[in-house]
Amino acid sequence: MTSVQVLIIGSGFGGQCTAINLLKRGLQDFLILERRDFMGGTWCQNSYPGAAVDVQSPLYSISHEPYAWSQMFVEQAELEQYTNHVIDKYDLRSKTKTNANVVKVEWNKATTRWLAHIENGEVISAQFVVNASGPLSTPVIPNFKGRDTFKGESFHTNNWNHDYDYRGKHVAIIGSGASAAQVIPAIAEDVAHLHVFQRSPHWVMPRPDYKFSQTQQKLVGNKLIHKGVRTAIYWQLETRMIGFKYSKAMLNIVAQRVALKHIKNQIKDPKMRKAVTPDYTIGCKRIILSNTLYPALSRDNVTLHTRDSGIQSIDEKGIFTKDGQHLDLDLIIYSTGYDATDGVISYPVVGKRGNTLAEFWEEYPRAYLGTTIPDFPNFFVVTGPNTGIGHTSAIFVIEAQMNYIMKAIEATKLRGKSVIEVTKQAESDYTQMIHHEMKSTVWQSGGCNSWYKSKSGHVIAMFPGFSFTYYQLANKFQSNHHEFS
Ligand SMILES: Cc1cc2nc3c(=O)[nH]c(=O)nc-3n(C[C@H](O)[C@H](O)[C@H](O)COP(=O)(O)OP(=O)(O)OC[C@H]3O[C@@H](n4cnc5c(N)ncnc54)[C@H](O)[C@@H]3O)c2cc1C
Repeated sequence: MTSVQVLIIGSGFGGQCTAINLLKRGLQDFLILERRDFMGGTWCQNSYPGAAVDVQSPLYSISHEPYAWSQMFVEQAELEQYTNHVIDKYDLRSKTKTNANVVKVEWNKATTRWLAHIENGEVISAQFVVNASGPLSTPVIPNFKGRDTFKGESFHTNNWNHDYDYRGKHVAIIGSGASAAQVIPAIAEDVAHLHVFQRSPHWVMPRPDYKFSQTQQKLVGNKLIHKGVRTAIYWQLETRMIGFKYSKAMLNIVAQRVALKHIKNQIKDPKMRKAVTPDYTIGCKRIILSNTLYPALSRDNVTLHTRDSGIQSIDEKGIFTKDGQHLDLDLIIYSTGYDATDGVISYPVVGKRGNTLAEFWEEYPRAYLGTTIPDFPNFFVVTGPNTGIGHTSAIFVIEAQMNYIMKAIEATKLRGKSVIEVTKQAESDYTQMIHHEMKSTVWQSGGCNSWYKSKSGHVIAMFPGFSFTYYQLANKFQSNHHEFS
């Protein structure tokens, strides 16, 4: 049986940051398991037309890995290149097993180690497990009546079939969130007709993008200048949190009014304007940044179907709508999101009392610093419950989590112990604090239903505060919140 000190599950930025931090501390005894046949996570998987980041690239990157980005909000291909650049720089391929889908992880009381079961029957033993299986890596397709009878092509944006030529075809896209908003303008011009199914509209703001000149690219890739640019972007984005939590008036002035003006500027048809205007406070769902979505929706070959003309059922030839139409289709694109809330981890985890993490999370997912859970010793969740951030880069939070995880592993070693476990009290106090703070946020009180909320109604995806507050909490390791053995 392969045995390692640290097992990392997932090879996206979460897995990469964990590996790099271990290497920087001289810890070489780790292994990364990745279920796909390639490494890299989000940006190597999501190759749908139009895929691009919606946080400025100098900030949406690893803090110590600057890159000569070609524009402010880069597209997927460049993020894939960056991901591979990081993986190769730290020689992470030699530390990774691909095609290794973890199907179960269980604590072995006798050896006080984790056993990770891979789909092919292999078992890996590890002292510490870092789960980095991704908050948005398991796509979900709702079970529409007759879905499987459709004889045309269909796929989720997460698994785009590049062998299929959509040009000149009759296409439907189901969903109107962040991925759909990128796909729609990217394909609208090339298809015969595009039917967009929108259950509820999102707020859309202008995308302040621009291409860097060659000189600017060199400058952005320079370590010192990169740091300065990052800092400026970071603080500019951080002010958004004031609106999301403390000031609805500010949110209205700096965001909702701008978004309403964007609708007015880009859409002429009053019916269409009404159809795309949300009835909840801006920020309650992820804000979409796009200059091309509304013009695409206004095209003659694009039809927007709102709730009243939504999907009744699917048959072998296409979609029946609620208002009695039948749409003949060649392709159905599901842009229906991810299992992001109640299924935070993609495999069962069995803790020291034989209980599963899913059982502990039955009411709603929760964890100390969104990372550790009582009864699940030596187990860390990267991008766990309430570590999401709507206003800045997810990589910033991942790097903040690294401080806690590395300090926890080091504290265990320093004490000559082999096991660390967060106390029930510390986890409970932290979770209470999170949901108390959440009450005043737009995600809880903005009048929408979003993937930020679990079925319990608790917002479990987002951290209810400034990202620097999370950074400070994660950076200050509190040994009295843990038990060592
Ligand atoms: C289309 C899209 C756009 C996004 N845009 C932004 C953005 O603009 N800004 C932002 O801040 N965030 C964005 N995000 C959020 C994104 O999830 C994070 O920014 C970040 O990439 C998360 O990294 P990760 O390593 O935690 O997860 P991932 O990149 O998802 O990596 C997880 C890896 O774990 C692997 N894995 C999962 N389960 C198993 C298993 N059982 N066994 C083995 N391996 C497994 C997966 O195959 C995957 O490779 C976006 C997400 C998506 C899907």
